[in-house]
Amino acid sequence: MGNLTIRNVKTILTAPEGINLVVVKVETSEPGLYGLGCATFTQRYLAVASAIEDYLKPFLIGKDPQRIEDIWQTAMVSSYWRNGPVLNNALSGVDMALWDIQGKLANQPVYQLLGGKCREGAAVYRHADGRDLEEIEENVRRFMEQGIRYIRCQWGGYGGKNDYVAPENAPPGAYFHPDAYARSVPRLFERMRERFGFEIELLHDVHERLSPIEAVRLAKQLEPYRLFFLEDPLAPEQLDYFRMIRTQSATPIAMGELFVHPREWVPLISGGLIDFIRVHISAIGGITPARKLAALAEAFSVRTAWHGPGDVSPVGHAANLHLDLNAVNFGIQEWYEFSDRLREVFPGCPTVRNGYAYVNEAPGLGIDIDEKLAAKYPCRNDLPEWTLARLPDGGPGRP
Ligand code: MG
Repeated sequence: MGNLTIRNVKTILTAPEGINLVVVKVETSEPGLYGLGCATFTQRYLAVASAIEDYLKPFLIGKDPQRIEDIWQTAMVSSYWRNGPVLNNALSGVDMALWDIQGKLANQPVYQLLGGKCREGAAVYRHADGRDLEEIEENVRRFMEQGIRYIRCQWGGYGGKNDYVAPENAPPGAYFHPDAYARSVPRLFERMRERFGFEIELLHDVHERLSPIEAVRLAKQLEPYRLFFLEDPLAPEQLDYFRMIRTQSATPIAMGELFVHPREWVPLISGGLIDFIRVHISAIGGITPARKLAALAEAFSVRTAWHGPGDVSPVGHAANLHLDLNAVNFGIQEWYEFSDRLREVFPGCPTVRNGYAYVNEAPGLGIDIDEKLAAKYPCRNDLPEWTLARLPDGGPGRP
């Protein structure tokens, strides 16, 4: 093969389901040999595209794509100032693509390069949302019929009930009442346990919407309902309060969706303050840092639960799954159902059967992109309303 080098780096922007996705394609000097990576920061996709096109691409061209670790380390500090979701996502797009290339060169799926399978499929959790308890119950039942054994329940999305009296001339936004929400969650799980018993695993996502002391109270109140985990109970700015939750309740805690820096997860893991680490893998920089994070977590009996919503591209979902199949301390995988349209744009998407997700066994990440089709679904630069969170008095909240 001679001296294999990186010949080109392309940023592909596409929104087949109306959610902006960023995918990186690293092309090599070997004709037809390329890799794909997920760099999706959906709300700032243009900033990520610039970080790739204007900075990483010139840095990478001519380098050996098999030197993944060296490239990750040098690219990370090439801006001197580092970390943050924009730069980490840009780096992740490249990093996953290099692992994809490495797998294709070895003619092996990426999970083999990580140490092989610890399991054949990754158990997934799905989202049962509803405006009222009846609708949530219906959705739980529907998932159970599909063989799903882990189900996240949300009453009114992330906000629960929306009873509030806003002042005159209050600005528009996604209004949210923390107290009404906090009171609604124990009622929700009391009802679900009454209906479905304890044979099914139930989860809940706080989405960092409570004050620290409310999060402590909620974790305590939910103890009798034996959640599989309570997700993101606090904002990353409030990490010190995890100790208070821990000392006062035995509800398992999952944390990390917004994390972008090792100093955010290291104290929680090494301090035994969480049970599941659930970062958005592209937001921490890709497979290279994620496999190290999984190993760190293993040493402290913390399990993985990588973030897996619609704003992770199918390439990113495939990367999640390769890690899931390998990690001995895998916990659960959040799952987003791919539409037929997404499957057309991304041939080789992972599949779910009877509650387990499977990668296809093709070399590398096992997933491709139809660039012509992807171009038919342009991204849109407008903010979703849910990011404009407001509290009952009209003041700014956190989404
Ligand atoms: Mg979440």
